[in-house]
Amino acid sequence: MSQTMNKDELKKVIALNVKSLYRKTIDEATPAMIYQAVALAVKDMIIDRWIATHKEYEKQDAKVVYYMSMEFLTGRFLGNNIISLCEQKEIEEALSELGFDLNSIEDQERDPALGNGGLGRLAACFLDSLASLGYPAYGCGIRYRYGMFKQQIRDGYQIEVPDEWLKDGYPFEIRRAEYATEVKFGGYVETEWDGKRNHFVQKGYQSVMAVPYDIPIVGYGNNVVNSLRIWDAQPVNTFNLSEFDKGDYQKAVEQENLAKTIVEVLYPNDNHYSGKELRLKQQYFFISASVQRAIKKYKEKHDDIHKFYEKASFQLNDTHPTVAVAELMRILLDEENLEWDEAWEITTKTCAYTNHTIMAEALEKWPIELFSRLLPRVYQIVEEINRRFVAQIQQRYPGDNEKIRRMAIIYDGQVRMAYLAIVGSFSVNGVAKLHTEILEKQELRDFYEMMPEKFNNKTNGITQRRFLLHGNPLLADWVTDKIGNEWITDLSNIKKLSVYVDDEKCQQEFMNIKYQNKIRLAKYIKEHNGIDVDPRSIFDVQVKRLHEYKRQLMNILHVMYLYNQLKDNPNMDIVPRTFIFGAKAAAGYKRAKLTIKLINNVADVINNDKSIGGKLKVVFIEDYRVSNAELIFSAADVSEQISTASKEASGTGNMKFMLNGALTIGTMDGANVEMAEEVGKENMFIFGASADEIINLENKGGYNPMDIFNNDQDIRRVLMQLINGYYSPQDPELFRDIYNSLLNTQSSDRADTYFILKDFRSYAEAHKKIDQAYRDEKWWARTAMLNTASAGKFSSDRTIEEYVRDIWHLKKIKVELK
Ligand SMILES: *Cc1c(COP(=O)(O)O)cnc(C)c1O
Repeated sequence: MSQTMNKDELKKVIALNVKSLYRKTIDEATPAMIYQAVALAVKDMIIDRWIATHKEYEKQDAKVVYYMSMEFLTGRFLGNNIISLCEQKEIEEALSELGFDLNSIEDQERDPALGNGGLGRLAACFLDSLASLGYPAYGCGIRYRYGMFKQQIRDGYQIEVPDEWLKDGYPFEIRRAEYATEVKFGGYVETEWDGKRNHFVQKGYQSVMAVPYDIPIVGYGNNVVNSLRIWDAQPVNTFNLSEFDKGDYQKAVEQENLAKTIVEVLYPNDNHYSGKELRLKQQYFFISASVQRAIKKYKEKHDDIHKFYEKASFQLNDTHPTVAVAELMRILLDEENLEWDEAWEITTKTCAYTNHTIMAEALEKWPIELFSRLLPRVYQIVEEINRRFVAQIQQRYPGDNEKIRRMAIIYDGQVRMAYLAIVGSFSVNGVAKLHTEILEKQELRDFYEMMPEKFNNKTNGITQRRFLLHGNPLLADWVTDKIGNEWITDLSNIKKLSVYVDDEKCQQEFMNIKYQNKIRLAKYIKEHNGIDVDPRSIFDVQVKRLHEYKRQLMNILHVMYLYNQLKDNPNMDIVPRTFIFGAKAAAGYKRAKLTIKLINNVADVINNDKSIGGKLKVVFIEDYRVSNAELIFSAADVSEQISTASKEASGTGNMKFMLNGALTIGTMDGANVEMAEEVGKENMFIFGASADEIINLENKGGYNPMDIFNNDQDIRRVLMQLINGYYSPQDPELFRDIYNSLLNTQSSDRADTYFILKDFRSYAEAHKKIDQAYRDEKWWARTAMLNTASAGKFSSDRTIEEYVRDIWHLKKIKVELK
């Protein structure tokens, strides 16, 4: 039927879709209309596979992982779905005969940006891998009406514009009203004695209906289609007569408002806890709906709830979904009428927790007052979990009140979500070797000592299907030409490229592809920034969320330093360099937004200075997101992974660059450490203090950056340019806060919290080496190719196989089409 279509069938279906959607013929249709029509045709091809996949799961009574995440940063689906269905050629030809180009049709899709950065993108890569490997899985999340804001740059400043991704309808989602579920907030708990036991009943609550929308996640070439289930909120029986008659008008209005606001926006903080009441509502909303639904589904086929964990795992993507521990307990206790110990056994065999950060400001701690008011019954359960856990600590460490202070789930008026997640889960994992070591030895050492068997590492990964096959078609075709196409489903095969690294013809082909991709990006930059960049210059790229620990500031300070050198000596022999930045800052993160302004002001001065002969260019790419990321990674020569050691849990941008043949300048942090193991330190530009050194300095209360300021003229000159109007003549004080943050002239924070001045010289040295190395074309080409060839470990397929082996224990499924 419509499971596959040839070119002519496709042309017919697209024309038909345009007609029935818009009452237009093909030649009257806009690209946006064609996009909708093509998406609908693709959805048609998906739908039978989707149904067949779920039939197969039921037939096999397969165990399922519920990947619970506040964020899924999927990026566009059309292109990826077409690739996964192996319909690229047919659709390209059909469109071309209709007078359209597939790339520009793909450009009509808005990115579903239901995530901030790395954590949300990881969830999306995991779903892609789960489907492509044939594992039964649901993504569980929120259908934010407005996803991550669109970033505009005006006069160098970031402006946040609402992301109306649903405005024209999203063609791939399907509303599943039949699975709507009520979620209750607030009120109070009444205890009712039935002669045998107490029952706890929530009364006087407000509720909303959670209504799921499913988005298909298409496995690569295997007919498997999993679901990303995102929940929308709707009012429950608004203004129904019985409520109204009771004079409960106020409550009806409040319920309606709750439903409207709860899924309104994604909080734009990355690695930062905001503590907003609405955020906790969002968390409980999607978790309660997902857990209720998982239990219902299980009970349709099984009668022994005690074995729930044999058919379901809940993976908690950071602490945001941790309330799942207590919600599962609530359902087992209050609705399934289990005893505490039975319920606890099921819960702690179902839940597993992934830790994503060790930074204090990111740890979620909810005030008891807020938590218990919003979730009165759930809070009682958390109290009881805590009471029993504290008793366990006392038994293991009699009289050690320090341990209780350090480990209790409820302490000092707050619920510590990470500790609830650890206690309620059978698995606790970090996301890179170094990160897991730091968790075990430092941040979570008390827990590691008490329950070492729970701890494990799962180094993050990325899907090669989006970030090479789709994002870099020229390189993908070349790789396939050289080593066959097995790398698409098993990236370890990419190491077969190593035999070509010394082959000069291959080196030239590889670098020529890089050059073509740089031309593609240069065109994008010309269109969006109006800046001419030379594709023969080194494309040196830092794209990621803007955060002090990621040290975009160090990068731009180094650009200022290079510019000073060039001004002093315009004949200085350096390889022309284009520094490319892309980053959104959380809307309330002042210093991050000021750093964006600094980058743009520096760009303005440098790009307009004719005296340096175009040797330096600085570009800030507006609205960094998955769709333009794909263009950026494929065009990069140098990848900036320069976080303060110990602060970046893993990073995944680093892996995308490596796979696309960029050389990394980076600290020994996160997964950079493992990249160095794979490709060899000599094939990266490693610099800066180690994680151990940083942690030691932090334990001593920091260091004194004034010593560096006083003794290093070049650094002092750059810092003075922050406060003498060099880059902001109209307002010389504009960048004072950044200057202060580095030298701590009055702020209460430690001076140079992220050790920028400490690492600056070693960073500048590493850049000098890049300049020298790039002149040796053969070395560079060989090393770039070697980076691609060594990226096999960093496929999210490998990561998922490890989760399956150690945590979820899923079985692969085969889907045959009839
Ligand atoms: C991969 C990715 C990230 C994460 O980048 P890091 O460098 O690991 O912080 C963030 N945003 C987008 C759009 C990405 O594709």
